[in-house]
Amino acid sequence: MKADELRKMYVEFFCERGHKEVASASLLPENDPTVLFTTAGMHPFVPYLLGEKHPQGNRLVDVQKCVRTGDIDEVGDDTHLTFFEMLGNWSLGDYFKRESISMSYEFLVTKLNIPKEKLAVTVFEGDDIVPRDEESAKVWMDNGLSESQIYYYGREDNWWGPSGKTGPCGPDTEIFYDMGKEKCSPNCGPSCNCGKYVEIWNNVFMQYNKQIDGSYTELKQKNVDTGMGLERILTILNGYTNVYETELFVPVMTRLNEIIKDRKMPLREKRIVCEHTRAICFILGDDKHIIPSNNEQGYRWRR
Ligand SMILES: [Zn+2]
Repeated sequence: MKADELRKMYVEFFCERGHKEVASASLLPENDPTVLFTTAGMHPFVPYLLGEKHPQGNRLVDVQKCVRTGDIDEVGDDTHLTFFEMLGNWSLGDYFKRESISMSYEFLVTKLNIPKEKLAVTVFEGDDIVPRDEESAKVWMDNGLSESQIYYYGREDNWWGPSGKTGPCGPDTEIFYDMGKEKCSPNCGPSCNCGKYVEIWNNVFMQYNKQIDGSYTELKQKNVDTGMGLERILTILNGYTNVYETELFVPVMTRLNEIIKDRKMPLREKRIVCEHTRAICFILGDDKHIIPSNNEQGYRWRR
C-alpha cells in the first residue's frame, strides 16, 4: 500500500458516506490561538465545533498536516513523529457515536482487510463529571468485537482536549493494533507503552466546552472528530515494524546514508535526523512560510 492510495481510499470511503473533502489547513493554526502549531486535525475546525456553519456542510473529511513538538523526545522509536499526516472525518452536529464507530470499523476491517482479532479499543471509564461510556462499548460489540477487546480507561487516556486551556473536548474511543508481541505483564493493555499495542485511530466525541475556570458546559451541538495517523497505519498495512520502513522515509534515510558514508551513526540518531528533516521541510514549505527565529514557531523550528 502506498501513502497516496491510502489517502485516496480514506477520502473516497467517507465521500461515499456523505462527507465533503476539505483541503489541509496551514501548520499555523488560523482558528485557534491556544496552540503554536496545528497539532491535530481539529484546530482549523474550532469555530465549527462551537456551532458556526461550515460552508461545505456538516460531514467533512480531510488529510491534515500536523506538528506535535510535545512528542519530540520519543522521536527515534518505531512510531512517534513530530510531523505527521492525520486522516480525519468530521461530524459537525450530525452523526455521533454509533455511526462514527461503525464507519471506522467498516473502513479498517472491510476496506483495509485488517483482521478484527488484531484490534483492541478503549473507551472512557467515567468519573464524577461524565458517565462511563457504555454506549461506545456496545456499538463496538454490535460491530463484532468481543468484550475482551474493549478496555476502559480514565481521563488520562480516554479524554481528548482541549489542547489549550479552553475549547471543545470530550470522551474518546481509541483504536489500537496488536503488533503480536507477548504481553509484557498480566496488566498489559492498550495504555501500556511496551509496543504490543499501537494506537492507530482516535474517535473523539466532542460534546463539552471547557471554560477558563476549569468547568465544562455542553456544546450546542454534538460533534465527532476522528484522527488516524497516516504513517502508522501505512506501517501496519505493509507489515513493517516501524515508520522508517515506509516510502515516506526511505528516500530520506537513503540520502542520509549517502552523506555520512562510512561514518558510524546509531540507528536512533539517524531516525531523528530523518524525522526532523522532514518536519522542518514541511514547516518551511508551509503556505505561511515559517522561518527560524527567536520566538514562538520560529524558535521551535530552530530547536
Ligand atoms: Zn505491555
